[in-house]
Amino acid sequence: MGQKVVIIGGGIAGLTAAYYLQKHIREQQLPMETLLIEASGRLGGKIQTVRRDGFVIERGPDSFLERKTSASRLAKEVGLEDALVNNATGKSYVLVNDKLHGIPSGSMMGIPTQVTPFVTSGLFSPLGKLRAGFDFILPRSKEVSDQSLGQFFRRRLGNEVVENLIEPLLSGIYAGDIDQMSLMATFPQFYQVEQKHGSIVRGMRTLAPKTPPGAGKKKGIFLTLEAGLGSLVEAMENRLEAGTVMKSTRVEKINKTEQGYHLMLSNGKDIEAAAVVIATPHKMLPALFSKYREFQFFRNIPSTSVANVALAFSEDAIQKDIDGTGFVVSRNSNFTITACTWTHKKWPHTTPKGKVLLRCYVGRPGDEEIVVRPDEDLIRTVLTDLKKTMDIDAEPEFTVVSRWQEAMPQYTVGHKERMAKLYEFMERELPGVYLAGSSYAGAGIPDCIDQAEAVVEKILNGIQK
Ligand code: FAD
Repeated sequence: MGQKVVIIGGGIAGLTAAYYLQKHIREQQLPMETLLIEASGRLGGKIQTVRRDGFVIERGPDSFLERKTSASRLAKEVGLEDALVNNATGKSYVLVNDKLHGIPSGSMMGIPTQVTPFVTSGLFSPLGKLRAGFDFILPRSKEVSDQSLGQFFRRRLGNEVVENLIEPLLSGIYAGDIDQMSLMATFPQFYQVEQKHGSIVRGMRTLAPKTPPGAGKKKGIFLTLEAGLGSLVEAMENRLEAGTVMKSTRVEKINKTEQGYHLMLSNGKDIEAAAVVIATPHKMLPALFSKYREFQFFRNIPSTSVANVALAFSEDAIQKDIDGTGFVVSRNSNFTITACTWTHKKWPHTTPKGKVLLRCYVGRPGDEEIVVRPDEDLIRTVLTDLKKTMDIDAEPEFTVVSRWQEAMPQYTVGHKERMAKLYEFMERELPGVYLAGSSYAGAGIPDCIDQAEAVVEKILNGIQK
């Protein structure tokens, strides 16, 4: 038996760390072993797939960005290459003042890159369009270490474009308040584009994918797995060595010792570890390391609560359908839902023939009380909103309500600098302890996988020294 690496938290970050560590230990016959400790009774964390009556329903994430390659690489690693599916592309909308507007073509994350679709869009007033044009003449922002996404875009494109398009799209990804969210920790590329080109519109235009004439329908930019993202978790779990996963056990405290670390578990047992990978949400850290005030700032990093309701219908229940894959809702609409995906259109493989699957989100920063309301309330609220945009004249065949309380960590302004300081402290005072996961350096599934892979590399480098 060799040195023990304990991984705390069995979400995608912890699972990835365990999987790749075991792979290297096996292949290089390293004198190491791993133990993955998960508080709940199942692995996967926020990844959770429900399979019911031929539907594939995601409670948490439904896909990942294809261009961030670590997730598809991992899927291939565990034998799921043939199960990878791209989303079907189609029109998407934003609901402004209770009316659906097509997102102008050529927009990248809400930033216009083509003039005609933007100028002819009913999404903005003539004054709002004129204000956005200032982007072509405004100087670059002064070099600063960070600023909020809101501040950055309001300055370049004006409030109207931000509120009617950019805010609903970006805050949908992080369930965050763009006036609090860090530009550098979420979309540093926008700052870099501005620094390089001055105008963000001109800069994004150079990055826009060029579709040659006659190229046919564009491939979607997201990937998922045919049997749901839960199948990635299942495949990884099946490949972990027997006896290396401990579920329904919480790590409660970590103390530094002469040889490494001493972990106290919720089942009353103790474990010694040479290295520890912490892949839990950040809120756990102040308690795990209660002796160190350096972790206390995590208490102040907010996490937003959201819920989603998946509704399965028969096709005939929807009288007035819309050509597209979904919509996001701007704050100036009188709607409670924040987004709706027409899942049967975006991901046709998830829905049996003759059926419709809609998935709606509720909850945004500062307006999260809805998340804890009873299922019946949530379903009614969502249906009332949906009926304002679609003609639905029957009850859903079934619904799946998923609540995610304090689940979306918020990278507020200064996040990267705070983390850099903490990493420096950990390297000095807690060598062999590493962080990976959505609270730290990117919340998308591929970001969590990247972080775990980087930690594995550090642990292996440490051993081979
Ligand atoms: P988690 O999945 O939170 O796992 C952490 C694990 O640690 C949990 O299993 C928890 O039980 C365990 N744990 C906590 N404390 C302890 C302890 N003391 N001891 C032991 N175990 C402990 N990303 C995308 O890329 N695409 C999407 O479409 C997308 N949609 C999303 C939709 C929703 C509703 C949510 C909530 C997130 C979404 N995300 C999406 C983000 C992404 O799903 C998450 O960031 C990612 O899955 C987080 O993985 P993780 O391993 O960091 O943490």
